[in-house]
Amino acid sequence: MPKRNDLEQKALHYVVGTGYQGVLQSDLWRELGASSREGSRVSIKLEEKGLIRREKELQEGRWTYRLYPKRLPASIETIVDCPCLLCPDNARCDPTTALSPKSCPKLTDWILNLGKEAPVAPEGPSAPAPEPSIQEDDSVAERLDPR
Ligand code: SF4
Repeated sequence: MPKRNDLEQKALHYVVGTGYQGVLQSDLWRELGASSREGSRVSIKLEEKGLIRREKELQEGRWTYRLYPKRLPASIETIVDCPCLLCPDNARCDPTTALSPKSCPKLTDWILNLGKEAPVAPEGPSAPAPEPSIQEDDSVAERLDPR
């Protein structure tokens, strides 16, 4: 069995790699070869450290968690439409002069519109959700580590 810190690192790396889609807790532990009990403890630790977000989700009649990264690494796609990249005034633009990023309307507009085109999660099936079973995927771990 891997050490807990190793498992935390691997789990965090995997969750970050899933981006906005996130990953079901059970799928993550299967991928990492960890037990459900150990996996639940690690995900709780990562959430307590503010590194991931856990959202309860009903899967095949059982409650589990979907894990999302709290922060995603920056990518070139996030700045590809920044107005500064093709700005004709770029060479003269300086925060200590009148032509400054501090007062640039183009840059301000771009910043204010960041995130407005974030991907939207696809709609689920229109069929009603099944009744959840009493047993929950993470019930054992949560009894061991109540919050
Ligand atoms: S802050 Fe404005 S003026 Fe300066 S480089 Fe960017 S777009 Fe151009």
